[in-house]
Amino acid sequence: MVAAHNDGGRRMDIRKIGVVGAGQMGNGIAHVMAAAGYEVLLNDVSQEALDKGLATIRKNMERQVSKGKLDRGVMDAALARITPTLTLTDLAATDMIVESATEREEIKQAIFEELVPHLEPHTILTSNTSSISITRLASRTDRPGKFMGFHFMNPVPVMQLVELIRGIATDRETYDICLGVVENLGKTAASAEDFPAFIVNRILMPMINEAVYTLYEGVGNVRSIDRSMKLGANHPMGPLELADFIGLDTCLAIMNVLHDGLADTKYRPCPLLTKYVEAGWLGRKTGRGFYDYSGETPEPTR
Ligand code: NAD
Repeated sequence: MVAAHNDGGRRMDIRKIGVVGAGQMGNGIAHVMAAAGYEVLLNDVSQEALDKGLATIRKNMERQVSKGKLDRGVMDAALARITPTLTLTDLAATDMIVESATEREEIKQAIFEELVPHLEPHTILTSNTSSISITRLASRTDRPGKFMGFHFMNPVPVMQLVELIRGIATDRETYDICLGVVENLGKTAASAEDFPAFIVNRILMPMINEAVYTLYEGVGNVRSIDRSMKLGANHPMGPLELADFIGLDTCLAIMNVLHDGLADTKYRPCPLLTKYVEAGWLGRKTGRGFYDYSGETPEPTR
């Protein structure tokens, strides 16, 4: 099932993939890549994040097995294909990097700076960034032609879409190889141009931000806002529930990218969103956001 992509008579095999960041997205990416037959090296700066990431992969695969969506033998083989490491340069001998570390440009830039001198010339670089300019990240590497935005949706094992974002210098072969990987994962790609937050988050985040303004101005409380959008607009999750699921720090980072990149006040992050992030109330991943997750069922905090 490994991507063997044929392009103009040249064969480019993607066999080994390096995933940087073992957080909620990184572990999902490692999960689907390993299940599709790729060797995965999973890196994080934190041993705790690596341990938690691997435990999450196992738990999510077990769930897929119990639902009959994954064969136990495939699961065992997939888990054996994932190698965790705290050393970024262990990812040197891979064919593709999927960077999925914290949504801060200086962090992503530092990762690529450290990694690039150790890579093989053919290695493709990708970032799972939700909003940061692919062209800018690519321009600071030695291979802007081999750099792509590879944007998964959360939760990765469940969501069908991968946004593929070409930087201004991304070459055709790189795009085709990435498309081949998406197809091997059994997922569907949508192409987006490299403008702030691309397509999904350009539309989704202003809606979430508006929901936070609706809360901030007292138009509704957490429950009534989420209920309104679920039952009134047929959304599967309410916007505040979804914000907690994504991570409020990630939501704020994306709003800041939209605000700075498009210079339009309509993208101003809601002060209440900023306050929650300053408090460390980042949503599900920290146990508290617009809901409190410490009990049996999530309880609204406002
Ligand atoms: P997260 O906070 O769950 O995980 C980030 C991980 O990166 C942490 O484990 C952290 O220890 C690690 N990290 C930080 N600096 C690092 C470094 N220098 N080297 C290696 N690892 C490092 O965040 P997340 O939600 O998994 O987001 C990761 C990326 O995925 C971001 O770019 C985000 O925009 C993007 N993304 C997020 C979502 C979402 O719904 N959360 C959806 C699509 C894309």
